[in-house]
Amino acid sequence: MSRNAFIISCHDCGLLQQITHMPEDGAAKCCRCDATLRKRQHIKPAKSIEYTLALVISALVLFIIANVYPIIQLQAEGREMATTLLSCVNYLLTHEMLLLGGLVFITSIGAPLIQLSGLLYILLPVHFKRIPPYAPQVYRSVKLITSWSMLEVLMLGILVSVVKLSALATVIPGIALWTFGLLIFFIAAILSNLDTEMLWEQMSPNAQTLRVQNIKSGDQLTNCHNCHLLCAVTERRGQYKSRCLRCGTKVHLRKHESLTRCSALLLAAIVMYIPANLLPVMVITSMGKTEGDTIMSGVIYLAAYGDWPLAIILFIASIFVPSLKLVILLMLLLTVHFKSQWRAKERTRLYRLTELIGRWSMVDIFVATLMAALIQIQGLMVIDVGFGALAFGSVVVLTMFAAMAFDPRLIWDNMEKVNE
Ligand SMILES: [Zn+2]
Ligand SMILES: [Zn+2]
Repeated sequence: MSRNAFIISCHDCGLLQQITHMPEDGAAKCCRCDATLRKRQHIKPAKSIEYTLALVISALVLFIIANVYPIIQLQAEGREMATTLLSCVNYLLTHEMLLLGGLVFITSIGAPLIQLSGLLYILLPVHFKRIPPYAPQVYRSVKLITSWSMLEVLMLGILVSVVKLSALATVIPGIALWTFGLLIFFIAAILSNLDTEMLWEQMSPNAQTLRVQNIKSGDQLTNCHNCHLLCAVTERRGQYKSRCLRCGTKVHLRKHESLTRCSALLLAAIVMYIPANLLPVMVITSMGKTEGDTIMSGVIYLAAYGDWPLAIILFIASIFVPSLKLVILLMLLLTVHFKSQWRAKERTRLYRLTELIGRWSMVDIFVATLMAALIQIQGLMVIDVGFGALAFGSVVVLTMFAAMAFDPRLIWDNMEKVNE
């Protein structure tokens, strides 16, 4: 084995493989399921930290500006209205929509803030060759919260709202709108620039790596899902588990109770899918008349006004994506349950797709919140968030949790059993 060679277990199919050479600025892919096993940046470790740190500091400045200044300003009937992201959340909280307010707060303010400040907490001392206290735990929280940071979805929601609002009043894009656009690019650059493997080595230089003599007979090898270090897991009461030597996270050979948890969450999502599509997402009161706006009628409205590109985007994000996600997860659960041998590689790809697309369905929630926070012209027009939005938000959250609970390695376990 060459000096730089290492063994890695694929996070998507569980296959143990040896990587003998990592190309500069390249990625190593799994030879069985095509998952990206490891990426390497072309810049040197010290430079990578410096680059990412500069991006994080700039992103934090943009984040503050984006939250202080209004996103959209409206002029209607001689009145001027403006809304910031915080006032949208405040609208939901003061209108007895605590759960929805919490969801909008986490996805648009809380998660990006924790993500950026957590990275600053780690990268600043690491840049000066120091390790901050609890660095592995903080980095773990940053990783966990990243899937809930949905600024790009919020941006799409703002654009849809601008189109819808321009039919009602004069819309002036606020400073925060442009800043959000920039912030999305900065966060994408941070995520692609950061060499996580290198950062783990800097954060825990004294961490023990797995030695052959420490592997007991009957142990299985798998990567820590948090820091990707190869760990040996020992069987205890029918379950393979241990603790990662580098970050202290509990390591299971397969996600704990994956099928049961995923099925329960999926079932709850299917139940909530019905009111999410039938109940109004927005309730519009104008000239004494009250009208409900469901997800589908929102799409039809845009199409009727000739805004086809936005109508198609909204249809894909709010109707096609959630339905597709429910169907894919159901299919994955059934095929794993019945130990199907059918197209394991394609099923693994479908699983990756569900992880990638689920967040985009949040767009309708952001549109409803922004419209309601802005249009409160008593006596003329008042927009409220309907219960459909709460049901729809719960479908998004439940399917995201269901996808996280599903372990794609179970697809391959069935294939291995037949080959044995
Ligand atoms: Zn694989
Ligand atoms: Zn670990």
